[in-house]
Order: sequence, then structure tokens, then C-alpha cells
Amino acid sequence: QLVSSWNRYRSIPIVYRIGVAFVLGSLLGLAVGQPAARLRPLGDLFVRLLSMLIVPIVVFTLLMGARRLSPANLGKIGGQVVGLYAVTSALAVGIGLIVANLINPGEALQLTDGDAQSATPPSLTEVVLGIVPENPIAAMANGDILPTIFFVIVFGIALALVEATTDNSDVERGVGLFYDLAESGAEAMFKVVWGVMEYGVIGVFALMAAVFGEAGVDAILPFALLIATLLVAVVAHIVLVHLLGIVGGLVGGSPRGFLNGSKEALITALSIRSSSGTLPVTMSNADKNLHIDEEVYSFSLPLGATINMDGTALYQGVAAVFAANLVGVQLSIAEQVIVVLVAVLASIGTAGVPGAGLIMLTLVLRQLGLPLEVVGFVAGVDPILDRLRTMTNISGDLAVTSYVAKLNDGIDLGAGSWVGEATDSF
Ligand code: ASP
Repeated sequence: QLVSSWNRYRSIPIVYRIGVAFVLGSLLGLAVGQPAARLRPLGDLFVRLLSMLIVPIVVFTLLMGARRLSPANLGKIGGQVVGLYAVTSALAVGIGLIVANLINPGEALQLTDGDAQSATPPSLTEVVLGIVPENPIAAMANGDILPTIFFVIVFGIALALVEATTDNSDVERGVGLFYDLAESGAEAMFKVVWGVMEYGVIGVFALMAAVFGEAGVDAILPFALLIATLLVAVVAHIVLVHLLGIVGGLVGGSPRGFLNGSKEALITALSIRSSSGTLPVTMSNADKNLHIDEEVYSFSLPLGATINMDGTALYQGVAAVFAANLVGVQLSIAEQVIVVLVAVLASIGTAGVPGAGLIMLTLVLRQLGLPLEVVGFVAGVDPILDRLRTMTNISGDLAVTSYVAKLNDGIDLGAGSWVGEATDSF
């Protein structure tokens, strides 16, 4: 009896089980209030389990991917990825501004207390220098994604060169060993992702209970219009730009298939609100469901989790209008163009961790001369806004990755979720 109910439970796709846990956890938090926050450690456990997988998955898959990347190839794919990331982020700010201008979400509110916060973006030189690790092991140990990507790509390309030029059979065998290790290591990590997602049912329940237990309805209600504005804008961006524009138009794949293949990553992003933390699931979805080659996704997805944030950029647009509403001013067209530029840069500089986009808002506000207190004012609802941003960030990473893969013959649109095959088994 017990075994058969367990099997029946397991036969329900994981994403639905997590979805139900998401809703029930939220309701519990709202009903019980503060005591529900005690469940937080169970949620943190889920986040830690995912974080544990980030560096190994990035290293293993990149090593596999680098095998087929010549330096020229890498430059081409890299240029396409970065260019498309920037364009989609700019479109996102535009959509955020348009929707917020239509709704004016801050009009009925008064800017009350709230601490002024400040963020100083790192300088361009710092950012560029930071890509090169002083010590690759330290970069991996600290989970610094960009320097890790840099080192592993250099190493992987060098391995391929050695393989192509050596006539020493021992060395050749050694190179093969590295690739075999990377391949089996990546497969093993994908299996662990699947196991962690099973625990995610409990983890997400606990996370949501804690979030709503801490925030409470009273703190959230005044911001309902802001939440609704962001929701409308992210849905518009995902549907118009990611699904119809990129996947349907440019890739020539089925938007439904794309969503079906990305659903585990999207719900994880919605639950843990961290692009980096979601990375293991995003990569698993790209590999197993969307059938993208590792030479593209192993590079574009960790990069995207760090620099490509459509949702975060879009939110800066919404928040700029919201802040202007609060103090009763109207943003001019010129100011809105500035918002696009600053927001794209801010979103690139935002780390893929919870709440980072809120701090970056100070850059946009300062540029427009709007009160920095707005950051403190909305901080209470940010755990809710952040989820919508992060989900959009992940959807953008996967959409652009699909397109770059298509451009480079690295995607199989006749397999996996594209043609409606079961996608649940990781
Ligand atoms: N939490 C977001 C992310 O990890 C960043 C943000 O705060 O907007 O993608």
C-alpha cells in the first residue's frame, strides 16, 4: 500500500509536485505568520544542495564543450551570446517602462520611511581584470563563475590542441581520460540534480512558508499594484520576446516545447530567486530536454546566470516609473532612454543572487535624481518581486542559448521536449 502510493507520488511530474508545494507553502505562511519562518532551514537545505552542484557541473560540461571549440569558434559563439544578451535586456527595460507608464503603479502611494541604500558598481577595469583568475583553484573554491569559465575554457582548448598535435600515445590517452572524466562527471551531476529536485518538494514548501510567514499580508498588500505591474511586464516579455520572437521566430521551434523543456528551471528560479543557484537545473534542462550541445550551453548558461538578466533589467524600468510616481514627477522620454542604458549596465553588474537587483536600483534612481529611500521602501516586497525577475532571467538565458545553438548547428529540434517527449526524468 505504502509502496504503491509512493510510486504513484513519484509518477507525478516533479514540476507539478513542486508547484503544489509552492502554493501550499505560501498559504501556510500567510495563515500562520511568523512561526512559519521556522521552516526556513528546510528551504535553505534545498538551496545549499543546488549550490553544491554549480561548480562541478560548470567545470565538467565546459571541459566537454571546449573539446569542440576552436578559439575562432569560441569568439564567434561568444560574440553572438553577449550581443543577444545585451539586446534582449534592452528590450526588457523597454517593455518594463511601457507597462509601468500605462499602469503608474506608485500613484496612490506615499513614500514613507525606508533607509537610503547605496551601491557602487565595480569599475570596468575591475570587471574585466576579474575575469582572469589569479588562482583557478581559488576561483572554483569561491564559486566565482566568470574566472572559472575563463580558466576551464583555456584549459579545455589547450587539451584539444595537445590531442591534435601530440604523437605520444600516453599523452593522448591522458587527454582522453580528461574528457571521459568530464563526461561521466557531468552525467553523474545531472543525476544528483534529479535527486535534489525530489527534495525540492519539501524545500520549496518550506521556503515559501518562511517568505510569507515573515512578510505577512499587511506588508504586501500596499504593493499589490507594483507586483501586478511587474507580473504583466514579465509575462509580456517572456511571451513576446522569448517565446514568440526568439523561440518561435528565430529558432523555429515550438514555444510550448520550449516551456515544457524549461519548466523545472523556471519553477526553481521562482522558488529560490537565484540565477546561480538555479544553474544546475538550467543546464540539465538545456542538455536533457532542449537537446542543446554542450559546446554552446556549457558556456552561455553560466555566463548568462552572471551577466544576462532580462527580469532584473525590466524591473529597473518598472521601479523607475514607480519611484517617479511616488514623488509625483513624470519621466521625460530622454530620462527613460537613460533608464534603458543604466538598467542594462546595472543588470549586467548584478550578481545572480537573491535581492541583488534591489541594490542595483540605487544606480538608476541616482541617475534620475529620484530618492534613494525608494529602495528601502520596496525592500519588504522584494522577495516576491525578485522571484518574477529571476524566472525571467532564466527564461532569457535559455531562449538566447537555444538561438545561438541553432545558429551554430548545436540543437536538435526533432528530439526531447521540442517534440513533446516526456521531459521529467532529468
Ligand atoms: N535574484 C536575481 C537573480 O539571481 C537577481 C535580482 O535580484 O534581480 O537572477
